[in-house]
Amino acid sequence: MKKINRISPSYNFELDKVAREVKIRASKRIVLQFPDGLIEYAPSIAREISSESNSEAIISLDSCYGACDLATNAASRLGADLIVHFGHARWQGKHEVPTIYVEASSSLDISSVLPKLKEHVIDSKRVGLASTIQHIQELSKVKAYLEQSGLSVLIGKAAGRVLYDGQVLGCDYSTARSISDSVDKFILIGGGNFHAIGLSLATKKECITLDPYSGAVATTKEFLRRYMKSRYACIAEARRGSTFGVVLGLKSGQLDMDRAYRVRDLLARSGKSVVLFCADNLSPDRINSINGVDVFVIAACPRIALDDAELFRKPVLTMDESEVLFSDRLLEDYLAQG
Ligand code: SF4
Repeated sequence: MKKINRISPSYNFELDKVAREVKIRASKRIVLQFPDGLIEYAPSIAREISSESNSEAIISLDSCYGACDLATNAASRLGADLIVHFGHARWQGKHEVPTIYVEASSSLDISSVLPKLKEHVIDSKRVGLASTIQHIQELSKVKAYLEQSGLSVLIGKAAGRVLYDGQVLGCDYSTARSISDSVDKFILIGGGNFHAIGLSLATKKECITLDPYSGAVATTKEFLRRYMKSRYACIAEARRGSTFGVVLGLKSGQLDMDRAYRVRDLLARSGKSVVLFCADNLSPDRINSINGVDVFVIAACPRIALDDAELFRKPVLTMDESEVLFSDRLLEDYLAQG
């Protein structure tokens, strides 16, 4: 516990457990991987693991948004025999290099925010709970608190790509979807708006966010309205394009060739010319520098098209969006269907 607090009072990095595992496996060289929110702690963590386990730790500086993005190439090139991946739950797919996951659960106390949360949901009879991985341990606390106030509280069972009941990923809201018919609204524990927007779209229900970092509690209704307006504007502009670039994402858990080719064929049947690209890391600058393509479809993580939307000079769509492009279906209906 001392080691955890020395590195950060806000996260549990489980360093004793990691060092023990590294020793048991007799790993000589390991690659450490962190999402943006945890990279600041990387040097201290690397020092700690190296000294406790007598291994060489090399920190990957590449971006890392999910466990779908393992540092497999880096480990192979560096001759590392282990990856320690921080900040996400275990990926359920195949691992080419042995990998230990450290979820880095948050130790922020949200008790003082619960009365504020109750005010936002007290008009409901039944609420659904969801969380990003860092705060998954808070779900039972929030559930007990709201149930004491007379609300019925549901948490969806783990399914699809997620490991825990109530957990959501930016590309998988199956836990929330499984209970959406039985609840009036959702509460999402996590920072930022990305997951709350995705959850609202996947369930067609209002989502209240509880941000453990800022202590803010808010509905995403207005943000969602503005978000959908901008996505429909992007889709409308994309329809006028004649040449489409379909970008195949090469990250270990993101490549879905079948779906990418379905999108390519759909575009071709709609009379569009299609150019195929592939990329491991994609930046708006790189996309903006391409001539002769009017619209890009990102066949990889949906965050690539959405997080940097304002930085792209041309329409950049997710695969979901490209699949409603030439149909009369609403994007909301398509996303809610799963
Ligand atoms: S594909 Fe994107 S949203 Fe899904 S787990 Fe990976 S980083 Fe997260």
